[in-house]
Amino acid sequence: MTSRPCAGHGPAAGEPVACIECDLLIRIGPLRGGQRATCPRCGHVLSSAPPDGLTRSLAFALAAAVLLAAANAFPFMALEAQGLEQVMTLPRTGVELYRDGQASLAVLVLGPIVAVPALMLATLVALLVPLRRRIGAPWLVPAGRLLFWLSPWSMVEVFVIGVLVSLVKIAALATVVLGVSFWAYVGFALCFTAAVASLDRLQLWRAIEECGA
Ligand SMILES: [Zn+2]
Repeated sequence: MTSRPCAGHGPAAGEPVACIECDLLIRIGPLRGGQRATCPRCGHVLSSAPPDGLTRSLAFALAAAVLLAAANAFPFMALEAQGLEQVMTLPRTGVELYRDGQASLAVLVLGPIVAVPALMLATLVALLVPLRRRIGAPWLVPAGRLLFWLSPWSMVEVFVIGVLVSLVKIAALATVVLGVSFWAYVGFALCFTAAVASLDRLQLWRAIEECGA
């Protein structure tokens, strides 16, 4: 299998990278587990290679996938007021909005908190399984591009914080019972954030390049 430079999606080994804080061009050599490269002018961290970063990211991604499935399968929360109880699940919020003629709102609600993270997890697994075994695959470059393109559209942490803030308001109006899905989603948000945080963009593109993609 031949290796070719991955121009256009990340700097190849030996090519200089620009510090995003002060624009200084720096050549970053290969990093070993636990090492990080900082800008000599402003001290900004340019790249880091966490120990067993790929393995750790894959483990968190798989755990996040299981928790996301659980979050969609069980009740998210139940509201009780004046003898009436309403049980809510994550998929049902989208279905109810769709039934009310708010299809675009349903996509805007479920997209960033369920669909985009699920697609990112699938992409992460498709990338990390061959990269850990140092096996080239034709989908590595498109999957890397897709992962970083999707990243700004994932709003997992925003959703968790939004739910916690709204709980304070709702608790004054109705009795709120948090379901299994709520705790599963909190666990998913933690694992998902850890999976993405364990990846360094420069190191990932270099790993893809080393696999000959
Ligand atoms: Zn700098």
